[in-house]
Amino acid sequence: MTSASNAGAIIPLYDFSCKGCGAAFEALVRPGTRPSCPSCGGKGLERQFSLPTVHSTGTHEKALKAAKKRDARQADQRNRAQREYEAKHDD
Ligand SMILES: [Zn+2]
Repeated sequence: MTSASNAGAIIPLYDFSCKGCGAAFEALVRPGTRPSCPSCGGKGLERQFSLPTVHSTGTHEKALKAAKKRDARQADQRNRAQREYEAKHDD
């Protein structure tokens, strides 16, 4: 039986942004290694954390409510713009 060293290993893929040149890239980070910027070779990298997927109903409802509030505000702004337009062009 043979076992390839990488078989079944989980190599995490991270999002990075380079502090040196601002490049954003993804890199596989094996334990004990540090990625460098593919663009400038710099090591000053910032790891970007992606938000975890949330399945909680409460959070979902909150997000929906926030979206509705935002939509309402946008609609209000549109209505106001429309009224202003009509007021100016009322002849
Ligand atoms: Zn860079």
